[in-house]
Amino acid sequence: MALTINGLSKTYPNGVQALKNLSLTIGNNMFGLLGPNGAGKSTLMRTVATLQDPDAGSITLDGIDVLKQKNEVRKVLGYLPQEFGVYPKMSAADMLLHLAVLKGIASAGERKEMVDALLQQTNLWEARKKSLSTYSGGMKQRFGIAQALLANPKLIIVDEPTAGLDPAERNRFLNLLSSIGRDVTVILSTHIVDDVRELCPRMAIIASGQVLQEGSPNDALAALQGKIWSKVVKSDDELKAIETQMNVISTHLVSGLHEIRVYSESNPGDGFRCVDSGLEDVYFLNLSRHTLN
Ligand code: ADP
Repeated sequence: MALTINGLSKTYPNGVQALKNLSLTIGNNMFGLLGPNGAGKSTLMRTVATLQDPDAGSITLDGIDVLKQKNEVRKVLGYLPQEFGVYPKMSAADMLLHLAVLKGIASAGERKEMVDALLQQTNLWEARKKSLSTYSGGMKQRFGIAQALLANPKLIIVDEPTAGLDPAERNRFLNLLSSIGRDVTVILSTHIVDDVRELCPRMAIIASGQVLQEGSPNDALAALQGKIWSKVVKSDDELKAIETQMNVISTHLVSGLHEIRVYSESNPGDGFRCVDSGLEDVYFLNLSRHTLN
């Protein structure tokens, strides 16, 4: 499965340009679309999911023209949007059966078999008869994946799925995603760097509707190896002075002190030590270079 996005642009009626001539190629497996709030991720995901049209550009999915052959796309698409509404009084099992009808699965036996398997896979079997309004955040998101998996989709889009989940729920959700990622294309849109680090062999970083970097997280990390330096600074004044002289990527508070990370091709001296690069460094470096441009 290959999804090819070419020269996509979108300006909303209020004048916000959400996508700027954006191009991306996405193959099998889990693809991370990483970017801050407002980067254009949801706009891109909704466009690929055939829910809105761009002003310019093209998208193909294994030879299907996504912008024209919408019904063809919908047959092979599973989508978990950011805002996910359900009929709260329905049970998970009934809701999935209902959605399976809408997906065009005509045989009642086939629907039941598929829904039962999905409830097992998403670990909702025990709670299948409970109404969805009683579900926790994590259960709702797992239900969201169950409905996205109905009718064996080839392309699955999940938009900011881990926002608001507690660490245990998030872990369980990411494990579930990774178990389905191997045979299909999963696009995981997120602003959480760890989601991408833990799951995605390929990624793109986007901001202001543009791709800043694309490729494998491992390659991106390797390219920064030996160039990330860290130091604990003692005062706000020292921090300000360093910020004017160096390329500060991030600052974290550790026991009330600022631990800063800077990008430098060579040893900056002055108490800095070389540290392993992390995907956060890749992300923040891209964002800071983008803001400077
Ligand atoms: P992300 O998913 O990365 O947070 P979005 O695609 O939601 O980004 O938003 C990109 C930009 O487009 C933001 O500035 C947002 O405010 C704007 N935007 C999104 N949807 C609409 C809309 N329906 N009308 C006007 N502006 C919108």
